[in-house]
Amino acid sequence: MDLKSGLPFWLIKNGLSENYERLEQDIETEVLIIGSGITGALVAHFLCENNVKCVIADRRMESTGSTTASTAQLQYEIDEYLYDLIEKVGEEDAVKAYKMCLESITTLEKIVKQLKIDVDFKRVPSLYLASDAKGKKQLEKEFEIRKKHGLPVQYLTEEMLLSEYNIKRKAALYNNESAQVDTYKFCQAILDYHRKNSGLKVYSHTNIVEIKSKKDAITAYTDKEIKIKAKKIVAAPGFESENLLDEKVMQLESTYVLVSQPMHPDELWKEKCLIWETARPYLYIRTTEDNRIMVGGFDEPFQDPKKRDALMDKKNKDILKRFKTFFPESKIEIDFYWCGTFGGTKDGLPYIGEHKKHPNMYFALGYGGNGITFSVIAAEMIKDMYLGKQTEENIFRFDR
Ligand SMILES: Cc1cc2nc3c(=O)[nH]c(=O)nc-3n(C[C@H](O)[C@H](O)[C@H](O)COP(=O)(O)OP(=O)(O)OC[C@H]3O[C@@H](n4cnc5c(N)ncnc54)[C@H](O)[C@@H]3O)c2cc1C
Repeated sequence: MDLKSGLPFWLIKNGLSENYERLEQDIETEVLIIGSGITGALVAHFLCENNVKCVIADRRMESTGSTTASTAQLQYEIDEYLYDLIEKVGEEDAVKAYKMCLESITTLEKIVKQLKIDVDFKRVPSLYLASDAKGKKQLEKEFEIRKKHGLPVQYLTEEMLLSEYNIKRKAALYNNESAQVDTYKFCQAILDYHRKNSGLKVYSHTNIVEIKSKKDAITAYTDKEIKIKAKKIVAAPGFESENLLDEKVMQLESTYVLVSQPMHPDELWKEKCLIWETARPYLYIRTTEDNRIMVGGFDEPFQDPKKRDALMDKKNKDILKRFKTFFPESKIEIDFYWCGTFGGTKDGLPYIGEHKKHPNMYFALGYGGNGITFSVIAAEMIKDMYLGKQTEENIFRFDR
């Protein structure tokens, strides 16, 4: 699948991995992880921490799937309003999903500290803006339900928004439990750490095309007919699950991102908080370590790469125009832009765990605007499942 086009900022900023090992012969391991993006890296992290021998296979160069295209805003609030999610999955599960996302940001922070890696992880507040009068009503309702369940949230009025942030909108929800990161750097740092300290092996250009499962073992076959035998396989293929999973669980879309020139700090907004809005599709905004503005949005409900790429120029203009409605004075100019495939599910929640048609496999499919927080949740849950630990009822199961 053609996952992205254009120049993803993170790839330029950090460069390619120096690791370029291919699989040349049959091997055996405890766990084979398919995918070296942030999800596969986090799964490897939790398993390696528990002395489980892991191998990662990726059909691309290391970590160059969607992880390089991400804007990496880490938020506990998912694409579905909590009150809508309650309608879809019930109050208990909906609140639990929100709380797990909240917790996952702290988990990421702990990993950064534990591995002592510098990956531009930064706690920043988040502003969820009302795009219009309907959005204001939605935020009022959302505020009440989040408050009822003890989730961190403050309601900002039109006056507060204007005086504090110089943004003209009817209302906003604010929380200071969000964060941002350089996901590509993060992913590479985790892989490098465990390559060095846990014997993790990562094979690039190793395309898994077939999987055969027996009672106590599972074997993956590459397109070069090389075999990887394991006790379990974890599928972390990002949006390319089609040849690994016997079910279509997501709808694919296209999204567009641009990055500005480095701005003078005075030209940025208070706290450099993450910004998004109630309109659908929404605009999402953050800054980078070198004070660039990163803005994404204007999603299209299709995946066709040719159609997607043909729209890039127009999308840049649309994004800039909309950005200027938030910050009319901004002298923003474009240094980089790209577009990428994006996936959503029927309820905005990921699919994690076993699938009845695929014995000896676990899936880590964190589809949705919160892909990275879902990756953390998936990685921890799969580690527990592999270790046979008692897990609570899985609210992200396939047959929900
Ligand atoms: C433009 C954009 C903005 C985003 N913004 C945010 C955001 O602000 N916050 C957030 O939380 N999330 C965001 N996301 C989502 C997030 O980036 C993704 O959920 C996350 O990067 C997915 O990571 P992954 O490891 O699952 O997938 P990937 O990074 O795509 O990695 C999967 C890997 O699996 C490999 N693979 C697939 N099939 C096979 C196979 N059969 N054999 C071998 N290898 C295989 C691929 O080559 C790939 O490298 C955004 C996504 C995009 C595109």
